[in-house]
Amino acid sequence: MEKKPTSGQFSYHGESLSDLPESFDACLLELQRAEETVRYQHRQLYQLEARYKELFDSLDEAFCIVEVLFDDDAHPIDYRFLKVNRVFEEQTGIRNPLGRTMREIAPEHEPEWFEMYARIAQTGEAQRFEYGTDALGKFYNIHAFRIGDPKDAQVAVLLKDISERKRREKQQAYLLQLSDMLRSLSDPINIQQAVGQLAMDHFGADRCDYCETEKEDALEFPMLRAAITNAHPFVVHDARTTAMLDEEAKQVCIQFQALSFIDIPVIKEGRPRGLLCIACREPRKWTEEEIDLARETAERTWVAMDQAKAAEALRKSEENYRAIVSQSIAGILKVSLQGNIIFSNDQFCRLLNYDCAELLSLGVNDVIYPEDQERNLIAFEQLVSEGKAYEIEKRLVRKDHTVVWVNNHVSPIFDKAGNVEAATIVSIDISRQKELERQKDEFIGIASHELKTPITSIKAYGEILAGMMDGAAAPIVVQLINKLNVQVNRLVKLIYSLLNTSRISSGQLALQLELIDLNALLEEHVLQGQLTTSRHHIVFTAQKLPMVSGDIERLGQVVDNLISNSIKYAPKGGDIIVSAESHGEYVRVSVQDFGMGIPKAVQNKIFDRFYRVKGALAEAVSGIGLGLYICHEIIEKHGGRMGVKSIPDEGSTFYFELPIHTVT
Ligand code: ADP
Repeated sequence: MEKKPTSGQFSYHGESLSDLPESFDACLLELQRAEETVRYQHRQLYQLEARYKELFDSLDEAFCIVEVLFDDDAHPIDYRFLKVNRVFEEQTGIRNPLGRTMREIAPEHEPEWFEMYARIAQTGEAQRFEYGTDALGKFYNIHAFRIGDPKDAQVAVLLKDISERKRREKQQAYLLQLSDMLRSLSDPINIQQAVGQLAMDHFGADRCDYCETEKEDALEFPMLRAAITNAHPFVVHDARTTAMLDEEAKQVCIQFQALSFIDIPVIKEGRPRGLLCIACREPRKWTEEEIDLARETAERTWVAMDQAKAAEALRKSEENYRAIVSQSIAGILKVSLQGNIIFSNDQFCRLLNYDCAELLSLGVNDVIYPEDQERNLIAFEQLVSEGKAYEIEKRLVRKDHTVVWVNNHVSPIFDKAGNVEAATIVSIDISRQKELERQKDEFIGIASHELKTPITSIKAYGEILAGMMDGAAAPIVVQLINKLNVQVNRLVKLIYSLLNTSRISSGQLALQLELIDLNALLEEHVLQGQLTTSRHHIVFTAQKLPMVSGDIERLGQVVDNLISNSIKYAPKGGDIIVSAESHGEYVRVSVQDFGMGIPKAVQNKIFDRFYRVKGALAEAVSGIGLGLYICHEIIEKHGGRMGVKSIPDEGSTFYFELPIHTVT
């Protein structure tokens, strides 16, 4: 049966009064329960709120709720802080923000912030971004989202202060930009200007100059002088009040509108090299970081300037070398150890009538006259193995197959480890010289040949005349005929020397080989030599010697020449020791004197054609410088070798060695 509502019943939580318990106690009980439920719910709500507040306050990021304020035209013009958490003040530096608007706190606050929050409040789109405010001198990472009803225009904002990170990033970006810029510049003046501009922008300064202190004018200013003398940054925050400057210096700063500045000296190897000056018209508190950055800027600028100057010096010296090489009248080459031409100057290309590119595709053997290649190779191999420079005369073949004589000076190029890695060749065209030599040889050949017949007749007549002299002849006639014969003999010797030279240079010096007893040969020529001098004592003791193959006339000529030189170049007289000894594969013959000797520096030249030692003593002795040349050629032709050991004022020992076995 349906219960009917009784009087006094009331509606409770929308339930029909008829649902209420009928007894008052029951009703009271029900009421108490309801109250408890409400209290419980309040408690829950309170705890929840406390938990939220705790959460809100425990955030280490600044959190706030702002209400965006609009003008009558619905433009956002400010925002008011409705709620902030515990760390908000600490993180933002904004004191007592609650209830105040941003414009009240920082009148210069950028309008972009108002627009940004208004957009979030209107669209409801949460946003994350990084944004800076010059008004507060901060940079924030922001997460902002709308809360509540759109018409309330409330935005919750989580802010993280990233000013430090941003500052570091900015510094790094500056240093990166500085490095990039310095890398791209090679002119010292451009470097100075570009650094000045970049640093001025970064430091927000009014002036920024880098100068080299090697130029003394920088030292005119007392503060610059101070920085350099102390080798330490000179930093002034306010020139008007600082104790670091005297009155005069302060006036200079005021006059030059530099009320705050950093002067950084660059000191290298104890010497001031550069100075970076950053200055502002207004006083400014320079931070340690700014000073460090200025120091880094100065250091990098100096390095770049130094490199630029070194590169410039290198470029100039390269230019000089290039000019010298390209304008040289000598051909200049670089060749690899394999004999490839790596570089050639224009002169060498012209010498051989090749294009430079053509020449670079060739090897040296492609341009050396075939007969000279082996001689060249031997010398080049010695350069590679011993690193010794050498000089060589040889023939080269031009592109049109004509031949040119050159004198090449070849020097090694070493790598860092000291090994030969290539060679440079300085090549001089000596064709004209060779042609003159040829003409001279031709003349000597013709003249000596033409003189030989009449002089032989004169010599014969002289000897006949001398033989016809008897006791009846006037002593003066005998004396004159003897003198005539001595001079004729000298002339004959001279003409034969010229003839021999001519034969040698035309390759016509032929040998009549036979087996020779050297002891007998030496004995004979020692006796002959002794007959020509009374001031010298020529000593020879025969040794047991093997027979050698040789031209008896030519070898006799060599021995004669050495003995007569010993007599000539030991004018005071003394012993001359002739000796011969066997050394296994060869026999060595030596002629030693105790005369004037030969300076070390020219000992390698005395076997050259027409070479005579300079100096009063040597030049006082008559001669034409052909004797040793002929001796040397004769010995070489025998497959032997010739040399000298000599000490000035002590004497000389000339020797030649002959192989014991037959020579061709
Ligand atoms: P010449 O004696 O006709 O000048 P040589 O060819 O024989 O020519 O010698 C060349 C040079 O070597 C000489 O001019 C001389 O200066 C030097 N010379 C040769 N032999 C001797 C020696 N025994 N002592 C010192 N100097 C010598």
